[in-house]
Amino acid sequence: MAKQEDDFKKVISHAKEYGYVFQSSEIYDGLSAVYDYGQNGAELKKNIREYWWKAMVQLNDNIVGLDAAIFMHPTTWKASGHVDAFNDPLIDNKDSKKRYRADVLVEDYVAKIEGKIEKEVKKAAKRFGDSFDKKQFLVTNQRVVDYQEQATGILKRLGKSLENEDLADVKKLIEELDIACPMSGSKNWTDVKQFNLMFGTKLGANAESAMDLYLRPETAQGIFANFLNVQKSGRMKIPFGIAQTGKAFRNEIVARQFIFRMREFEQMEMQFFIQPGTQKEWYEKWKENRMKWHLSLGLGEDNYRFHDHEKLAHYADAAADIEFRFPFGFKELEGIHSRTDFDLGSHEKYSGKKLQYFDPELNKNYVPYVLETSIGLDRMFLAVFSNSLKEEQLENNTTRTVLKLPAVLAPTKAAILPLVKKDGLPDIARKIINDLKWDFNVAYDEKDAVGRRYRRQDANGTPFCITVDHQTIEDNTITIRHRDTMEQERVAISDLKSIIAEAVDMRTWLKRMG
Ligand code: ATP
Repeated sequence: MAKQEDDFKKVISHAKEYGYVFQSSEIYDGLSAVYDYGQNGAELKKNIREYWWKAMVQLNDNIVGLDAAIFMHPTTWKASGHVDAFNDPLIDNKDSKKRYRADVLVEDYVAKIEGKIEKEVKKAAKRFGDSFDKKQFLVTNQRVVDYQEQATGILKRLGKSLENEDLADVKKLIEELDIACPMSGSKNWTDVKQFNLMFGTKLGANAESAMDLYLRPETAQGIFANFLNVQKSGRMKIPFGIAQTGKAFRNEIVARQFIFRMREFEQMEMQFFIQPGTQKEWYEKWKENRMKWHLSLGLGEDNYRFHDHEKLAHYADAAADIEFRFPFGFKELEGIHSRTDFDLGSHEKYSGKKLQYFDPELNKNYVPYVLETSIGLDRMFLAVFSNSLKEEQLENNTTRTVLKLPAVLAPTKAAILPLVKKDGLPDIARKIINDLKWDFNVAYDEKDAVGRRYRRQDANGTPFCITVDHQTIEDNTITIRHRDTMEQERVAISDLKSIIAEAVDMRTWLKRMG
């Protein structure tokens, strides 16, 4: 645990030191769970957004984009169920005065049991070596089977109590499991209460006529409200999707995990409209497709897993999370939800407008079913950033801090370094920059010895360093140094563009999705 905490602290301080993420309003001592992205963070975030948009919109001729407003008519949130049901169960510890999400306390308890299972698996894998069969071990080792049963039993009960709004039972579960406040160790809990997560605001200048509004807690409703506008103006035929990225706001009860859980964050959502009855098939397809997208970035297959929901939201008939191994353990990164016709049906009811599709194949009108993929851009940022930060032991007994960001997402693709600040080398470096900058984000650095400049770029996540030296004057070649392997090669200036393009082009990376 201590190592995990330590690693996470390093992630947060590296993000600040290298201009990726700053606490919001830091000069006023900060605003809790709100963050700003710095010069590098803004680029990384933009690149992740673009990587998603390309995969979802540009490469699918039946998916189109949308950019809906953050403010929506207040009835939207009545229809979507957010006014009545967008609650988290909260519980306070009477001694430490700390507030928690009751479901998260229980889920963290279960995560500990899962950790024990992982430990048993590791131990056995070591003992049995090559002959180890993990699948068989999981169903035959009595201790592991017991752990698994315990974990499933707890989650099932939690799911049921939440579904039935039986908050007294959630408290009972916490007491039965003997869960203590992680900050103080105290088990002196209040009752569990529901807390609505939407931020309210007002539209209009005078108090009497002002309209109560909410800041949107998800981007999805802007898509549902525009379903017919897009379908008709784009002559879209089912199945088709509408995708959008944008800010969402939630008054989160507990927000202590850096950009994992923020009060203002960005989502990348896609609603896929389908014939009723085909949702199972599309659910499986989108689960597979989204996992492929994640794996294309090469952060390691072992760092992802699916988690099927026991407790379904009011709108869903099936739901799964793609979980990622964050510095603090496996947690939700993306949700894939089969939302049935709940949203469009409900907007029909509240608005009195038909939100139906005439299907020429079936020769009838119906309210389409919806399959949703929903990922937090900031959470994806944290996944990529934390996974990329490495401390490497080098042969000469020194360490280097390197941010091995997937090259396609790196804020700066190459740094151009004149070996010395004279003999015309800076001029050549500038000329190279002036050529490359039309295609890539590139940086210039002439300060300090070249070794130190390499390290600076390593920590910054820059995949290539290009050094201009005296030989460059003679034969128009430079050395290109690769961040991950630290290997250097001599290449012609005229080949630079294609070498960098091959490594950072979205085409190269997205083609890995197959
Ligand atoms: P959680 O259980 O972690 O609160 P959720 O199930 O409420 O998440 P969804 O409503 O399904 O999340 O939202 C879709 C995605 O939006 C999540 O998978 C996550 O990546 C992102 N997300 C949700 N809430 C936040 C937040 N407060 N800060 C950052 N990202 C968030």
